[in-house]
Amino acid sequence: MKIELYDTYTRSLREFKPLKPGQVGMYACGPTVYDYAHIGNLRTYVFEDVLRRTLEMAGYTVNHVVNITDVGHLTSDADTGEDKMEKGAQRTGKSAWEIAELYTQAFKTDLQLLNILEPVTWCRATDHIAEQIQDIQTIESAGYTYITSDGVYFDTSKLEHYGRLARLDAEGLKSGSRVEHGEKRNATDFALWKFSPQNQKRQMEWDSPWGVGFPGWHIECSAMSVKFLGHLFDIHCGGKDHIPVHHSNEIAQSEACHGTHLANYWLHGYFLETDQDKMSKSAGEFLRLQTLLDKGYDPLAYRYLCLTAHYRSDLKFTWESLDSAVTALNRLRACVHGWGAVDKVDSDWLSRFQQEVARDLNTSKALAIVWGLVKEPLPDQVKKATILAMDQVLGLDLANWIPQRQEVPDAVLQMAEERKIARKNKEWARADALRNQIIELGYEIEDGPEGTQVKRA
Ligand code: AMP
Ligand code: ZN
Repeated sequence: MKIELYDTYTRSLREFKPLKPGQVGMYACGPTVYDYAHIGNLRTYVFEDVLRRTLEMAGYTVNHVVNITDVGHLTSDADTGEDKMEKGAQRTGKSAWEIAELYTQAFKTDLQLLNILEPVTWCRATDHIAEQIQDIQTIESAGYTYITSDGVYFDTSKLEHYGRLARLDAEGLKSGSRVEHGEKRNATDFALWKFSPQNQKRQMEWDSPWGVGFPGWHIECSAMSVKFLGHLFDIHCGGKDHIPVHHSNEIAQSEACHGTHLANYWLHGYFLETDQDKMSKSAGEFLRLQTLLDKGYDPLAYRYLCLTAHYRSDLKFTWESLDSAVTALNRLRACVHGWGAVDKVDSDWLSRFQQEVARDLNTSKALAIVWGLVKEPLPDQVKKATILAMDQVLGLDLANWIPQRQEVPDAVLQMAEERKIARKNKEWARADALRNQIIELGYEIEDGPEGTQVKRA
């Protein structure tokens, strides 16, 4: 199966060739855990999941690493403003460490509800402070840094190709440098280490060769991706907002530290937008997956909706489009379930599907192939086996859908699912709260030897 991916670094569709035969190192920027993820963020993780599943379908073993940003991401990309975590702590009245834990768990629950495969490695920025300090020291020894009154900065003018990923124009940047940027030498310079403000005890701070403080946002991804995947690995991904700043800076750090541009392919997912604007956590109001569950939607319908658009086009979220996704998904589930047992896969249809996903993850065309097969006059058992094989990439969990789920609303079943996850994670208060919510809605929940049953009270 030949896979072609659109690489932002070269602005071209390139055939995927792994650095090591049969293996793929893939790093995806994870969430900043100062608040819940919104469904826009989750669209990016669905895209990355489809990418991983496509590579796995092609026979690769994917070493998928996702980080958790629990320190250092400031409210402004220009390295000013407050730390998002400390701000989140003030907002909630909890400690920065507590909110990191709370929103990390909530994020993992969202991924499970969307049937997103768990990364092989999760890594937290605060668990890798020593590695980040070491990288900053290497960058310093190589002569790329300078110190201001508030931190250690990377001098981007020292790199010949700074901003190549984003096609940043060096001349334009120089003229832009007349814009006020405080003690920074160039507008694009960024913090590697920030000093804790004097007379103020931060909740998250560490000793370093430069004084007490905390790492800049970008160094964590360089340090952790290299630790788990090596100096040059196959694929780095994230949302498109990361192209001009975060990923450009990760590349700058790697070029200074290891002389590589970190990853062989750079992939970026486009945004989920609402009627008003792009969805953003910092704007305060946003749709969570839980918001959809509260309204009675099945999270996999949201996944289906994501699959209807190409990951490299923005997707406007509307309730009508989510309703259409519900209808389509339920029709597909009912067909597949109704077809009874499975027989052999029709390799012709499967390879037509594979060609579409392998062509830069063209999921909307791949779905069209699925629907084409539904209508095809082939034996039901063959159609079922083939669509279930396709579902290894789509991730709609068609094999496990049972009509009984229809008797209890999907939202209630999802709450029961979340409760199960909460119990697994020993989050007893959350599990109890979910149980009470289910009871209030008029359903019973029983934990028996055959698992948890939900039915009308
Ligand atoms: P954050 O938690 O803000 O660091 O973002 C987590 C991931 O979501 C990153 O890969 C972002 O690029 C991505 N992202 C942020 N906003 C959106 C959006 N509206 N639609 C799609 N992806 C997004
Ligand atoms: Zn990152």
